[in-house]
Amino acid sequence: MTFPLAILTVAGGRGSRAGDGLPKQYRLLAGRTVLARTLQTMHDAAPDALLATVIHPDDSALYEQSAAELLDSARAKLVPPVSGGDTRQQSARNGLEALARLSPRPEIVLIQDAARPFASAALVQRAIEAARAHSAAVPGAPLSDTVKEVDSYGKVVATPDRARLRGVQTPQAFRFDLILEAHRQAANAQRELTDDAMVAEAAGHSVYVFDGDAFNIKLTTAEDFVRAQSALLGDLSDIRTGQGYDVHAFGPGDHVWLGGVAIPHSHGLAGHSDADVLMHAITDAIFGALADGDIGAHFPPSDPQWKGAASSIFLDYAAKRVRERGGVIAHVDATVVCETPKVGPHRDRIRESLAKIMDLDIGRIAIKATTSERLGFTGRREGMAALAIATVRLPAA
Ligand code: MG
Repeated sequence: MTFPLAILTVAGGRGSRAGDGLPKQYRLLAGRTVLARTLQTMHDAAPDALLATVIHPDDSALYEQSAAELLDSARAKLVPPVSGGDTRQQSARNGLEALARLSPRPEIVLIQDAARPFASAALVQRAIEAARAHSAAVPGAPLSDTVKEVDSYGKVVATPDRARLRGVQTPQAFRFDLILEAHRQAANAQRELTDDAMVAEAAGHSVYVFDGDAFNIKLTTAEDFVRAQSALLGDLSDIRTGQGYDVHAFGPGDHVWLGGVAIPHSHGLAGHSDADVLMHAITDAIFGALADGDIGAHFPPSDPQWKGAASSIFLDYAAKRVRERGGVIAHVDATVVCETPKVGPHRDRIRESLAKIMDLDIGRIAIKATTSERLGFTGRREGMAALAIATVRLPAA
């Protein structure tokens, strides 16, 4: 691609009809937020494109979480998020105005709904070509249902010819200057229009329809999420289990790190990094499920850069290796073995911390603790041990 291309994803909506309380673009879908899936899919289809996102001003933290789920090459294409307006039309306008301040300006812009995470690479290519050929174009699919026009009493007043109708999707594709100017005109005229194509139509431009994609659905209802989730997980049928085990000896100190939480104790744990025995066991379990070496192979203790390192670096990396393979972590179960400190009172804080690092729902993380009945090295309070099992789902081989 030799011309500047931008993908503007409109994610400012508050739609929580899909359940879960969160705006739907931030809901998890098979282990990743809908927005992260949409951005990653668009990036994979058009790797040179800048990725701009319009968000609700209250959603900065949610946006950052989704951005952190992207692979590095996609993250490198992000431009700072833009605050949305009161309507979708205003939000799209704000996004376009932000892109207009870039140098060089985009030549082509694709405007994408955050809730459409399944655009295929072929569809995105058709969108780019259609924008170059026609200046304004939208993907559309033939309708399978007959359409009736009704009056306010529900009485049919017309049956349009179905062959001439199209259900319109996104990404909608435009010459950048055309759609920017059309949005400015619509804002001046204070007209509320349904989609960006209609903004272009209202400014007097011809808009063309190119072939959409039946799989490019918009997630709207709770049922849409259930169907999409089972379609995605159906592909992740290579189910792996990995185990991890780690030990650290007590040493001087007044706290131990467990799952990224500092727990006050009469001793610390000795080790090259922060000696987070629980996080090391879980990290190794994930590497085990991937058959991808172990923590020492990825982060050699001989390398001075890991001295005193926060172990969240290791776990975050292991979770990223799963995402890079197109997979998800389905479940983590771990047991801490020690006489002291007591782990139970800190259990949920530890689960929350681990959930955040791995970007998992907390319901997928179990932390248990036991003593060894004063037997062995843990029984003599010489150190702590941790065991972990991770279940990982990868795309079918
Ligand atoms: Mg260790």
